[in-house]
Amino acid sequence: MRRSDRGNPEKNAGANYVEIVRDNEVIYRFDLNSESDRTFRVEYPGGGWNDVTVENSQIFISDSDCPDKTCMKMGKLRSEYAPIVCLPHKLVIQFSDKGDE
Ligand SMILES: [Zn+2]
Repeated sequence: MRRSDRGNPEKNAGANYVEIVRDNEVIYRFDLNSESDRTFRVEYPGGGWNDVTVENSQIFISDSDCPDKTCMKMGKLRSEYAPIVCLPHKLVIQFSDKGDE
């Protein structure tokens, strides 16, 4: 996790915060524009997982063991009005209007 640059509106304007929500709980929140390319796994207490990939300041679900794979088919997160959702796992990836609190 990185700290946001408070008191620097120009820099904040260039930030691109996303949050990853699992079962209504935010488990990650970071700035896509300052995040290096990587893939990490989100796992669930009841079983199951999603692999989330950050690449070129974009984010998508690259792999999942959910039955429908809808989350993978949604592709990259593009719009604040269209979050990536994995219904079987109650996972949501969406843009956020704030950084780390
Ligand atoms: Zn899914």
